[in-house]
Amino acid sequence: MLDAGLLVPTAATGLYQRSGDFEDAVRAVEAWAGSLRLDAYPRRSLPPILPRADFLQTDYLRSFPDLAGIVSVFTGGDAEHRALLEDLDAGGNGSTVLEPAETVLSSAVCHSVYPTLDPAIPDEGLRLEASGFAFRHEPSLDPVRMQSFRMLEHVCVGTPAQAEAHRDVWLPRMAEGLGSLGLDVRIEAANDPFFGRVGRMLAANQQQASLKHELVVDIHDEKPTAIGSTNYHEDHFSVLFDLTTPDGNLAHSGCAAFGLERIALALLSRHGLEPGHWPTEVRRELG
Ligand code: ATP
Ligand code: ZN
Ligand code: MG
Repeated sequence: MLDAGLLVPTAATGLYQRSGDFEDAVRAVEAWAGSLRLDAYPRRSLPPILPRADFLQTDYLRSFPDLAGIVSVFTGGDAEHRALLEDLDAGGNGSTVLEPAETVLSSAVCHSVYPTLDPAIPDEGLRLEASGFAFRHEPSLDPVRMQSFRMLEHVCVGTPAQAEAHRDVWLPRMAEGLGSLGLDVRIEAANDPFFGRVGRMLAANQQQASLKHELVVDIHDEKPTAIGSTNYHEDHFSVLFDLTTPDGNLAHSGCAAFGLERIALALLSRHGLEPGHWPTEVRRELG
């Protein structure tokens, strides 16, 4: 990908600029992933940042401190500006003067959505398509592990039965859809990389309760690559944001997430580096 100029590396490991061809492929994948929607529910396009207070409330920083990205800003006057210039002149990075912003980088697209919902979830449940950027501080030389990437998620908030049904519908739907793009995809039980000793316990619980599944393909020989996942959060986000179903109970939520760059990379590795020459069925499927 790098040799072919599809991804242009930068000074930061795992941060790439995209060639026109790569970007076209990602946008085609995004439109395709959206087109798998089951009804005409609302679509949202999300900025790469979210309110800091919402982020802190989601517990992401507690569970994944190693992956999170916090934004700093300058809010001072002339005196602070002088201090900043001195710090920079002395080879510093400004951190002695900059302050945490009211926004932070988004780590997972659906997390930005829950705090903005009307907490009274309707009878039929709430469904939403959300697309946007995620930042994760996991610098890697492997282009499938980027620091900045996009995902499109089909999100459901409703009764436990509605949230579970969402997962049960989307897992095979994602596998079938990705299969129709010519990808040899398998479903695997998975867990999130919760940090530290307590984290290992949380990860084991998540596996045991079958809360996360991944759609994996073999891009490398060494280990399978997840190009999508389904996540059942039980009432995690509803407790935090008071999301309630009409029966007065806390709602449950779940999402089906498509990793847009990873799907594009899987297609490039499967069908060749020139999207114009991909098999006709695949190009038709992608629209
Ligand atoms: P992994 O196990 O590979 O770290 P994940 O479990 O962290 O993936 P999710 O949180 O489920 O991934 O995110 C949804 C999708 O976003 C993943 O299935 C994958 O396709 C994509 N994704 C996750 N992390 C990255 C990354 N660092 N670079 C590119 N795409 C990613
Ligand atoms: Zn999600
Ligand atoms: Mg990860």
